[in-house]
Amino acid sequence: MQLAPGIHRLGDDRVAFLLVVADDGLTLVDAGLPGHRRDLRRALRALGRSEADVCGIVLTHGDVDHIGFAEALRRDHGVPVYVHGADAARTRGDEAAPSTATPPWRPGAALGFIATMLTKGGRTRRVAQVRTVVDGDVLPLPGAPTIVAMPGHSPGSIAVLLPEHRVVAVGDALTTRHVLTGDEQPQLAPFTDDPAAAAASLDRLAALDADVVVPGHGTVGRGTPRALVEAIRA
Ligand SMILES: [Zn+2]
Repeated sequence: MQLAPGIHRLGDDRVAFLLVVADDGLTLVDAGLPGHRRDLRRALRALGRSEADVCGIVLTHGDVDHIGFAEALRRDHGVPVYVHGADAARTRGDEAAPSTATPPWRPGAALGFIATMLTKGGRTRRVAQVRTVVDGDVLPLPGAPTIVAMPGHSPGSIAVLLPEHRVVAVGDALTTRHVLTGDEQPQLAPFTDDPAAAAASLDRLAALDADVVVPGHGTVGRGTPRALVEAIRA
């Protein structure tokens, strides 16, 4: 799905990631599940590009459903993988995500998510080497990804603003589809380490200048980040 000229959302509403297409190369924001590499390759073929054109992968955080094929591209093509320093250990597999209270769930939605995890899954390879980023960094990659720290879902959760495209990818800083209940009301994502911090981080998102908000799970938000944040808080 093309969200804006040069911005493609790959995967689906259950698990999504972004591809930025520019003349001088490609940027990925998140890397889905391992099996999403096939979806990526199919999209690249359709665009007349290849994995070798990927200049970098920016991870919104270090959870398994966001780092899927990152190690494969790093290993096979030397693609650098960027993540906030506070999630670097989780991304490398040196540290597990803390267990959170069991979120609410409904069988249909939960089974759908589990089915995606199984069909796109396989063994997630942790990323052996990462480059760390901090709040305010503008990465030397197509789309000039700008890092906005959004601690809460995990300590190193970030939003990635693509200023030229007026698109912001928020990972699991919020969701528009609860993966376990299917509820499509905008809300904080399940499995959030620190809900109070995640709620406070929404102020940072609300201040961003963009027209499209792309969560890791759920439909794309058309409208300003502020409007989406207000919908969560309403
Ligand atoms: Zn997720």
